[in-house]
Amino acid sequence: MKIGTTHLFVPGPTVVPEVVRRAMNVPMEDHRAPDFPDFVLEILSDLRCVFRLRTGRVLLYPGSGTAAWEASITNCLERGDRVLMSRFGHFSHLWADMARRLGLDVVCHDVPWGEGVPVETYERELRADPSIKAVFVTHNETSTGVASDVRAVRRAMDAAGSDALLFVDGVSSIGSVDFRQEDWGVDLAVAGSQKGFMLPAGLAILGVSERAVEAAERTATERCFFSFRDMITANDVGYFPYTPPTPLLHGLRASLDRLLDEGMDDVAARHRRLGHGVRQGVQAWGLDLCATAPRWHSDTVTAVRLPTDVDGAALCRNAYHRYRTSFGGGLGKVAGKVFRIGHLGDVNEVSCLTALAAAEMALLDAGAAIDPGAGVAAAQQYFRQALADEKGGEPVIRT
Ligand SMILES: *Cc1c(COP(=O)(O)O)cnc(C)c1O
Repeated sequence: MKIGTTHLFVPGPTVVPEVVRRAMNVPMEDHRAPDFPDFVLEILSDLRCVFRLRTGRVLLYPGSGTAAWEASITNCLERGDRVLMSRFGHFSHLWADMARRLGLDVVCHDVPWGEGVPVETYERELRADPSIKAVFVTHNETSTGVASDVRAVRRAMDAAGSDALLFVDGVSSIGSVDFRQEDWGVDLAVAGSQKGFMLPAGLAILGVSERAVEAAERTATERCFFSFRDMITANDVGYFPYTPPTPLLHGLRASLDRLLDEGMDDVAARHRRLGHGVRQGVQAWGLDLCATAPRWHSDTVTAVRLPTDVDGAALCRNAYHRYRTSFGGGLGKVAGKVFRIGHLGDVNEVSCLTALAAAEMALLDAGAAIDPGAGVAAAQQYFRQALADEKGGEPVIRT
């Protein structure tokens, strides 16, 4: 019999908070009802606060993050368009693969897994080749726990005088860490419902700049289901061009309330603190991160390199069966070599300590030479201090 909680520490799908789950338990309703637009327009407007978009719009399609990848490409680019991409993990690899399959002329830079977007290379490439129509950035590479500097890519594009569109995969960053679509000059920002938005999978969420909307008007690529124009025409009056998943929209309403009540700055600060605390734990184990330098550290997912005699897949299986705790396994090139702790969405200090405690047991079972409790203790110490500093409370009593 299963008593107590089954713990979900994969970096997506993330934990759906109780209030969000309840909000989705609604009777089916008429999505062409006269008052439906009141509900929809407010959601679309609040989504822009999450993306930090003052102009442009956020579009919702039934689908997952992969659908948003495809919608962004098929609306704003044409077959044969030259685009600049880089690969340094499972998701950046898949996006480049999709771009190729959709007929783009992909200039792709392979970067060692554990590093992020090569900004200097991008700038050089953009200066040398003004025909590049779009630049792609995987903001948070979920398979390696690597964050890239989107703002720096925008600066490099401006320095090179490029008028390419900037595409950003923010599936595991938007709604969790600092993301400013307008300020960073991002034209297409891709997200999905099952990560920072704390919902089940099922909504592809896409931030689209005004420039991107204009680009979509000019391109001649065939698209129907994902057509920006059809979606925008219907959204303008508060409807969808086809049946939307209304329970998910009610869940989204509840998750937006949570995010905006906390405030996007505080949401980002919480993820920074949690990411830092988890990394303190990993360091205390004496293990390395997959991310090779602090500038690449992700605050939503930590990928831990395992000692060579520990098999990551077996470790995750054991954690699941014995401790009812799910961690992310290694994907692609790092399969078996890393395991990943997701710390995004409905997470706090104590849930991260739970993750570290379960990981310690699984690591010890697998024969890793770590001190029992060392990671938890290091994270506890950091969290106590960080929260005391932040909340202006009593100083931490050291033991
Ligand atoms: C999860 C994820 C995706 C894929 O999203 P799906 O919703 O599974 O289609 C794409 N990119 C990144 C960075 C992700 O973390």
